[in-house]
Amino acid sequence: MIVVQKYGGTSVGDVDRVKRVADRIARTRRAGNQVVVVVSAMGKTTNELIKMAEEISDDPPGRELDMLLTAGERISMAVVAMALHELGVPARSFTGSQAGIITDARHGKARIVDITPGRVKEALDDGDVVIVAGFQGVSQDTKDVTTLGRGGSDTTAVALAAALDADVCEIYTDVDGVFTADPRIVPDARKLDRVSFEEMLELAAQGAKVLQVRSVEFGRNYGVEIHVRSSFSYSQGTWVGPEEKKMEDAIISGVAHDTSEAKLTLKGVPDKPGVAARVFTALAEANVNIDMIVQNVSAEGVTDISFTLPRGETKHADEVLSTLSDEIGATGVDIDDSIAKVSLVGAGMKTHPGIAARMFAALSDAGVNIEMISTSTIRISVVVDGDDVETAVRAIHDAFDLSDGMVGKEQGA
Ligand code: ADP
Ligand code: ASP
Ligand code: MG
Repeated sequence: MIVVQKYGGTSVGDVDRVKRVADRIARTRRAGNQVVVVVSAMGKTTNELIKMAEEISDDPPGRELDMLLTAGERISMAVVAMALHELGVPARSFTGSQAGIITDARHGKARIVDITPGRVKEALDDGDVVIVAGFQGVSQDTKDVTTLGRGGSDTTAVALAAALDADVCEIYTDVDGVFTADPRIVPDARKLDRVSFEEMLELAAQGAKVLQVRSVEFGRNYGVEIHVRSSFSYSQGTWVGPEEKKMEDAIISGVAHDTSEAKLTLKGVPDKPGVAARVFTALAEANVNIDMIVQNVSAEGVTDISFTLPRGETKHADEVLSTLSDEIGATGVDIDDSIAKVSLVGAGMKTHPGIAARMFAALSDAGVNIEMISTSTIRISVVVDGDDVETAVRAIHDAFDLSDGMVGKEQGA
């Protein structure tokens, strides 16, 4: 069997953990498998490298930032390979580029466009364990080194599993699997045995950072089932796969939260055709990623338009809109940096009425004010004050009886 295993930052956080990971890899190999390992940077290395760059420049060149960040995974791949050699297991490490991870040229958020894993296959055929640096690739056009966005090692792993037609893709992390909410906020959250690609896509997109969204897309598009599990135990984790394989028929799979966005409000916008188009065209041309949008009821011909966006892009968006504001006769721009988005996800929403009502009632009972709402067929998201995020997550989690101990009880009854 070809097994792909990905180890996250905490799992390779220090030398002892690297040795433990090597031990697990060695066992997998000794069981007769061909093993490809994808590693993240050790511990908080990526954050530290970003901080270092920010101390030097407000706006470091993307190319150089990627050069810097990819060094983190490069350290991990070498030390894991060394630890395997120490155990008598032949291992060879490769950078993303050497492993054939070909991307577009968008530094910091590159997308994988192709995988040419010739060297990986050769090394496997030679009987080596292959260690690949996660989160990085090389641009087809510029030949420069790129990174895949935060959490990108997950995507390296699932994409490689697809390219190698691997039998198993395991994502080893610091929790036992995918839970009904972030176990750091809801300690009695329940581990899911299975979750569908669709639900996991929503959870990941709404902030459940246990898997990067792109990795779930790869899994769904190429039919790679993903086993999310703990590197600190041997227990079964969560299987992410096609909907039809889901055994439990839960209405709700979980609550996700995201504190990485800000809310921007363009005030006093003339309420006439074409204005919203101009606003969002200007933002799109400036490459600002918009998430939720709300337009208030207009009074006396003017209205406010609010939207959420990644906090790192507010400065840029503010500049764009401040210029536009004068042109279209709006009165100004307001920025709220302290917001959070809380989302409820579940495939059963399609067929069960009353879910939104119950979610909003839970928030109201907890004294949490809702600032914005958006929905998809299997998700309801609200924007709340950043200070309320934990209260909101727990209140919703409780309202839908998602906790451990509620297993088997009728959900949503
Ligand atoms: P790694 O370094 O292994 O990639 P991450 O920090 O990226 O780990 O992701 C794992 C973390 O995701 C957990 O420690 C947990 O706090 C967080 N998390 C958020 N939502 C969930 C969820 N629904 N289930 C499990 N973990 C979650
Ligand atoms: N080291 C990168 C990050 O911290 C990639 C990853 O861990 O998946 O985002
Ligand atoms: Mg991660």
